[in-house]
Amino acid sequence: MSDRNDWIDFDKHHVWHPYSAIGADLPVFPVVSAEGVRLRLADDRELIDGMSSWWCAIHGYNHPAMNRAVERQLNEMAHVMFGGLTHRPATELAERLVEITPSPLQSVFFADSGSVSVEVAMKMAIQYWHDRGRPDKQRFLTIRKGYHGDTFGAMSVCDPDTGMHSLFSDILPKQYFADAPRCRFGHPCKGSGAKSLADKLSRHHQKIAAVILEPIVQATGGMRFYSVEYLQEVRRLCDRYGVLMIHDEIATGFGRTGKLFACEHAGVTPDIMCVGKSLTGGYMSLAATLTTEEVSSTISQGDPGRFMHGPTFMANPLACSTALASLRLLLGSPWQERVKAIQSGLQKGLAPCRELPQVEEVRVLGAIGVVEMKKPVAMKQIQPLFVDAGVWVRPFGKLVYLMPPFIISKEDLKALTSAVTNVVGTCPI
Ligand SMILES: *Cc1c(COP(=O)(O)O)cnc(C)c1O
Repeated sequence: MSDRNDWIDFDKHHVWHPYSAIGADLPVFPVVSAEGVRLRLADDRELIDGMSSWWCAIHGYNHPAMNRAVERQLNEMAHVMFGGLTHRPATELAERLVEITPSPLQSVFFADSGSVSVEVAMKMAIQYWHDRGRPDKQRFLTIRKGYHGDTFGAMSVCDPDTGMHSLFSDILPKQYFADAPRCRFGHPCKGSGAKSLADKLSRHHQKIAAVILEPIVQATGGMRFYSVEYLQEVRRLCDRYGVLMIHDEIATGFGRTGKLFACEHAGVTPDIMCVGKSLTGGYMSLAATLTTEEVSSTISQGDPGRFMHGPTFMANPLACSTALASLRLLLGSPWQERVKAIQSGLQKGLAPCRELPQVEEVRVLGAIGVVEMKKPVAMKQIQPLFVDAGVWVRPFGKLVYLMPPFIISKEDLKALTSAVTNVVGTCPI
């Protein structure tokens, strides 16, 4: 296994990748190191990272301050169980999260991935209503074009068509789906904007524990940016019908949309919030579910008087220390200006795509730039073109999108947007 090509070959025949097939005839590029915004491939080529490793690596790679935090924690303890024990990295991180999220969110459950934090949020909502004497409220209402993860509970609230899980639909819990919001970010959402959601709530609220949605930006389910008025209307409807509101900020949290949390665009506060992805700056898998005093005390004083979930690696000290270091870096940096600069760089750099016959629409919000194509892209052809252009861009379906690390320079951002414009222009019309 020492030969370079041996491990690459083993990968092809034995290792699953996300949404992949064993032995697939699709390119998988071997990466050997990463630094700043650059990934280095085994053949020494360097790629400018346009993906932040799926929203995570906001500070770039191999960051000295992040590395130091990992090393320091490693010398104290890598891990210890969280049942019956506690430690500073977890409590300090919880304190910080309570401080920076909307003020009603007061308690923190640490989970090991975004999907698990969504499961936890759903279980919290069900347990809350159970303890309020409403065991009939066990279902969820969500909006189409959403994505909340790959485990069973999370799958059940993903878009049934774009959510990639239709194969499992017969064994998933049946949830309620409202139309995706049509009113766009920056535009009003008058009158009947949330009519579909209001209809479902008025008919089924007796059975609904919570509305779950991604605030403002629907990420993997379609990369759509919707009106703040829509989110505000959903909050009012949840209150009116006695339904909790869960915000999935796993993709949007920690500055990506220009606010620390996307719900701040609308001034709307959830009852339960999930965070993950960039929480550790892309170093480790960690997520958290935050909730209000009302929800946590109801669960804690109800029957059985405790919340029924507890992962083995809950609040892993290495991950918590890394998250603390990431938050320190983020909040100590001019991240708002950086995200604003990325936003204008994306707007300028992707504007020429609007003229291309292959392109349906270009949209930008914060450090997210989306080129929606008229047809789905052919991954097998397009991926090597991006690599040849010296950039790491991973489209899916009709969406070619950029969400670079916040530390990216103007020049590197320009290289990313130029590569996207050029490569998209070579796609068949
Ligand atoms: C990525 C994502 C998830 C799932 O997180 P994992 O860490 O992959 O389990 C859930 N919700 C949203 C909005 C996401 O972007």
